[in-house]
Amino acid sequence: METTLNTSITIKEICDGFVYSELEGKGLFGLSGKLTIQPEYQRNYLYAEAKKEEAVIKSVLKGYPLGLIYFNKISDNRYEVLDGQQRITSLGRFITEKFPLIDDNGKPHYFGRMAEDLRKKINNTPLTIYICEGEETEIKEWFKTINIAGIPLNYQEVSNAIYSGTFVTKAKEEFSNSRNSNIQKWSAYISGKVNRQEYLRTALEWVSKSRDNDIVDAYMSLHRKDDNIEELRNYFTTVIDWISSTFIDVENEMKGLEWGRLFETYHRNPYNPQDISKKVHQLFGDSAVKNRKGIFEYILGGEKDTTLLEIRLFEESTKRVVYTRQTEEANKHDKSNCPLCALGKDNNSKRIWKYSEMDADHVTAWSNGGATDIKNCQMLCKTHNCAKGNR
Ligand SMILES: [Zn+2]
Repeated sequence: METTLNTSITIKEICDGFVYSELEGKGLFGLSGKLTIQPEYQRNYLYAEAKKEEAVIKSVLKGYPLGLIYFNKISDNRYEVLDGQQRITSLGRFITEKFPLIDDNGKPHYFGRMAEDLRKKINNTPLTIYICEGEETEIKEWFKTINIAGIPLNYQEVSNAIYSGTFVTKAKEEFSNSRNSNIQKWSAYISGKVNRQEYLRTALEWVSKSRDNDIVDAYMSLHRKDDNIEELRNYFTTVIDWISSTFIDVENEMKGLEWGRLFETYHRNPYNPQDISKKVHQLFGDSAVKNRKGIFEYILGGEKDTTLLEIRLFEESTKRVVYTRQTEEANKHDKSNCPLCALGKDNNSKRIWKYSEMDADHVTAWSNGGATDIKNCQMLCKTHNCAKGNR
């Protein structure tokens, strides 16, 4: 990547033709139309706290440096702001009188009515700008090393930059727009922040049927120039509709599950939503279930894989009591203290296992209604416990 330092562009030049969108809350253009201030990959303008905006202007008046600004050169006369968008927007908003400077006496001073020398000072201050030119991959690498506005970009924010174009623009309108009235509904199933691209990320993972960065990137690359997002939107809507029609009740534990994978795995099976609702409630009320997030897949999978639920294990004290009781009984009858070994005819039928060689087992399995209490606890040698667990 080629980088050129430019220290001759002044604030006046940068702010020439400055356009600020009140609706979107962002600065759009500057440098006589040659500069795009907020390209696709930039965050929305977060600076609009009066104090931060004023601080930028005060710094200029005091002659303090504003820090480095990075432009990405797109073509001979086209640039995008890579870093510095918030500072440029503050300057533009001040010069176009969107906010005043408040002096020590609390009096507001708009740019147009400031003393001539102060206006000149602002207008003629040059900025320190690095102009970068490079291939996508280079800029992607570079993006990973900088922090825009002090907050590191997450993977999807970087990808939005790399694959910027009509597809990303439309996808962001749908999935990164907190004014979209569907967000409320989606938030029952999706975790993360809309404005940090986490909903868009989820939608892309679902449609590309993978959580792998490379595969999601490949999807974005393939669709980069598309003028619509029909496939992305349709798939996403289909998954959401499937979840909400299969599970009638919305539970907190549904948020952030791998719904894309669950949809792909289970959507061909028929389910009775009323039955499912009953089962969900029953499992939510079962104190042996440690992983409540696993309940949904457990039910979808036909209630077979109890590992999803992380059924509560027996207490150490319970296991000690049962071990002692079984071992005393075994010694009395000259049999193994593992009840399953004791049934056999081999050498182990009289073997007394050490506590550390045994594990606790539910006599009646949890899935058949067995409780995790001392009445339903037996100690088995590790071999028999494993064998029973795998059945
Ligand atoms: Zn045994």
